[in-house]
Amino acid sequence: MTKYVAFALAAAVAVLQSPLAAQPAQPFVRDPKIPIDAEYTAKIKEYTTEPFFTSPLTDYLPASKTVPTPKAVLGDIAGAPGKLPYAEEVYDYMRRLEKASPRVKVVSIGRTEEGREMIAVAIASESIMAKLQDNSARLAKLADPRTINMDDAQAEALVTASTPIYYITGTIHSPETGAPTALMELAYRLVVDDHAYIKSIRDNLITLITPVIEVDGRDKMVDVYKWHLANPGKNWPGLVYWGKYVAHDNNRDAMGATLKLTENVLKAWQQWHPQVLHDLHESVPYLYDNTVGDGPYNAWIDPILADEWEMIGWNNVSEMTKFGMPGVFTHGNFDTWSPGYLMFIAALHNGISRLYETFGNGGADTVVRELRPDEYARTWYKQNPPLPKTTWSQRNNNNYEQTGLLTSLHYFAANKQLFLRNFYTKSKRSILKARTEGPAAYVLPADDPRPGTQAELLRALQKQGVEISRATAEFTVTVPGKKTPPRPTPTETAGGDGVGGPSDQAQESGAKTSAERQAQPTTRKFPAGSYIVRMDQPYSRIADSLLDYQYWSPNDPQRTPYDDTGWTFPELFNVQAVRVTDVKVLDAPIEKITGDVRAKGGVSSTGPVFIVNHNADAALATLRYRFRNASIDAAEEMFDAGGKKFNRGSFIVRNVSADDMQKAAADLGLQAVAVASAPSVKTHPVRAPRVALLHTWLSTQTEGWWRQTFDNAQVPFTYISTQQIAKDDNLGAKFDVIVFPPVGRGPEAIVNGMPMWGNALPWKKTAETPNLGSEDSTDDMRPGLGWVGVAHLQDFVRKGGLLLTVMDTADLAVSSGFTPGLSVAPRQRLRIVGSVVRSKTVDSTSPIAYGYTDNLAIWCDNGPIFNLSSIYGARGGRRLGPDDGGNRPTGRGTQDDPDVPQGRLGVEAPREERTDTWKAVPVTEEQMRNGVNVIPPAARPRVILRYADNRELLVSGLVENGTEIAQHAAVVDVPLDKGHVVVFSNNPIWRGETQGSYFLVFNALLNFDNLDAGRKLDAR
Ligand SMILES: [Zn+2]
Repeated sequence: MTKYVAFALAAAVAVLQSPLAAQPAQPFVRDPKIPIDAEYTAKIKEYTTEPFFTSPLTDYLPASKTVPTPKAVLGDIAGAPGKLPYAEEVYDYMRRLEKASPRVKVVSIGRTEEGREMIAVAIASESIMAKLQDNSARLAKLADPRTINMDDAQAEALVTASTPIYYITGTIHSPETGAPTALMELAYRLVVDDHAYIKSIRDNLITLITPVIEVDGRDKMVDVYKWHLANPGKNWPGLVYWGKYVAHDNNRDAMGATLKLTENVLKAWQQWHPQVLHDLHESVPYLYDNTVGDGPYNAWIDPILADEWEMIGWNNVSEMTKFGMPGVFTHGNFDTWSPGYLMFIAALHNGISRLYETFGNGGADTVVRELRPDEYARTWYKQNPPLPKTTWSQRNNNNYEQTGLLTSLHYFAANKQLFLRNFYTKSKRSILKARTEGPAAYVLPADDPRPGTQAELLRALQKQGVEISRATAEFTVTVPGKKTPPRPTPTETAGGDGVGGPSDQAQESGAKTSAERQAQPTTRKFPAGSYIVRMDQPYSRIADSLLDYQYWSPNDPQRTPYDDTGWTFPELFNVQAVRVTDVKVLDAPIEKITGDVRAKGGVSSTGPVFIVNHNADAALATLRYRFRNASIDAAEEMFDAGGKKFNRGSFIVRNVSADDMQKAAADLGLQAVAVASAPSVKTHPVRAPRVALLHTWLSTQTEGWWRQTFDNAQVPFTYISTQQIAKDDNLGAKFDVIVFPPVGRGPEAIVNGMPMWGNALPWKKTAETPNLGSEDSTDDMRPGLGWVGVAHLQDFVRKGGLLLTVMDTADLAVSSGFTPGLSVAPRQRLRIVGSVVRSKTVDSTSPIAYGYTDNLAIWCDNGPIFNLSSIYGARGGRRLGPDDGGNRPTGRGTQDDPDVPQGRLGVEAPREERTDTWKAVPVTEEQMRNGVNVIPPAARPRVILRYADNRELLVSGLVENGTEIAQHAAVVDVPLDKGHVVVFSNNPIWRGETQGSYFLVFNALLNFDNLDAGRKLDAR
């Protein structure tokens, strides 16, 4: 007790001396006068496998006569073996707490894709809860200092009067199961416990809890766990589906914000204005507070945030070290580069992002866990490492999660003014950003050829709370001269198709000489109607980080990037965004956009035929399916009509009423021109094909983004598994196109599936597992495509179908002999880790390229690397001759000289023409003689896009040893008998971030039976 007094005095002195410095935590002292729930406490002891796997904060439960403990709902304590509650049960408990105490308020924050509710639970003292609205209004002002004219004195008064909010989110990753029960018990403690340590949290802080973030996945996980309990001794099915669309990637959606869970948390963030978002995960033993992590840190965060990470993280480690809990650390291999993580919503919205990895067993079984040497090694940042082997329980996990959270909450509460002041300062600096570090704004020009996709990009920013303005008159800004050699901008390298490509960065000229590198500032004029994303707003940092470029040095000490290294949205969306540093842009006359940004659509002129320009806007695919019975043709060449220019691929629509067209065009943001008669241009029909989207039972993660994109574009599809392909020998009767998105497991696993030893692994809806099987179901997940399935797919193509494959499914098509003349070269030193790279159009007459201009940015993750050959079975690549890197044979003369045989007349060898990397070497006379293996010209692969030259390859992120893939084919259309196989080396549909490349896929679909249009054949 004396110790406590001394400490309290020291703390008081510290406050007087330095009101800005962080306060140390007060030690927790158990008060014997505070009653405990003896039965519950005994169970905590029973389920905790070692005394050091708990702390004085969690080794008891305070008693309450009025407030129910988690046992009321669970039938046992939080973290008990065998207990894994459904989301609804967790909510039931939280609502019972709300009923029992004025210290609790439960609100709904939205619904999931499958219609389940998401909630947030606020907990604080009665007096704080009684004035939640007033506090909320104060926090809103601190969050937007423009409302108080950036007045620090007013801010200080608000800081003093306000209670901060610490937002905790649980189980976003469904197999990481511990958080919901830990958060139920944490809520109880915060409501009931009268120890000074806990009271100081309740009296100084609002704890906001979303106990289940991935609600759809939680319920599926509980089903699987129940199946496991009902089938002892058997292997249980892996959680192949979490949310409706994606699994683990639900924590990579904070940029695109295309999932409901992200949208709902973003809305809650903008409504509540919390200071922290703390997301709970499980993987690493025993508690890795990974926000401190390792470099490189995200380049757009306020440096104040990096300090806050360190402060809270190291305090966390320090407190838990004193409790003697092993395996608590904060430095580690997680880098904080990508803003894709849910917690990062806080980081780029002036809050503090935090994340725990605790240790979990993927369910509530108590089991012996053996660690790898690197996991139990003592390191400088892990002085009390985890044990090599120990019995681990969900209760242990709950002890760690709660102890970590309680020490963090306590520390945050003790320093609430410091953190609130920081919150205000960060918000203010985000507004000042326009005039300090810049840029001043991004401008998205009114004359962008892709207004629909432009609007989509702007709506993604709006979901992030970013304010968008529109210029009401034209304006001019100064563009600085560029000092370093720029990467090529689309405007300087654009082909003849007219409009400039994706975003340039306000640099007009491609400086190639040193004189040009010192280019003088120029000016740039933007038309009225251009969108302006001003950086003098509170959420400027998220906008800047999404619109800017990323560079990850190949020499960075961090050799293993944790996730994607590049994401530049304007490039990936294929729209222009100009980074403007001239603050004059802030004086441009504007109107603020209220409501969602939408592209303006409609019909101009009159006539029975409608023409819609092809600009690769996903809405065109929607239009095709909306007017299923209409006759729509694609123009194979550019043309003029109604006084306008139309791109190759533009739609010529008949059999649609003017009213219907007007309505559709307005809905979809498309501009249609009505004409009296169709233009005289070569056309072919645009189909509304019957599409199958193919998945495995190994992983549905990456194809989920494809399903989502098809759903959003209202492109209907039948969702089938590789097992159904194996059973169906007449796929062409049902489908025109089979889309096989990446699996991420490689061809062998796709064919073989899972090993067939052990028991069957069902994935279906039963009384025991009511939440499984909503997407697809099977009695046994183990069988794969099988060789029969491969044969069925090939038969489908040969009879006229289109098989569309990507990355490892492309690998499967190539290695199974679907693509004569196309091979995959092994990757050696190439490193492209989720980067944005430049492509070049090779054949703009292919329907797959309709609507595109050159230099499309594409998302790439190490290929595959394609090679072409016109000889069946050859691996492609160049013929090595004197012209190729000096590979002449040994002989007389210099490297470029011909050799001279002695004693006879010399014969000059014919000059070997250099063949571009993306092309096949021309067939020789020698090969033509009895040319059994010479692929006929019409059956050869047709390259649509290739990777750019090495010096232009990198757009954003990391590219190392890019020469291995530079210039190689990226998108190839390979005829096979009557059908086609289209292969992608890039992933055109990824995490709601690659809108610019979506239409490569839709083009292939809509033109599946006319993919040879415009093709020029080799002479022999
Ligand atoms: Zn996780």
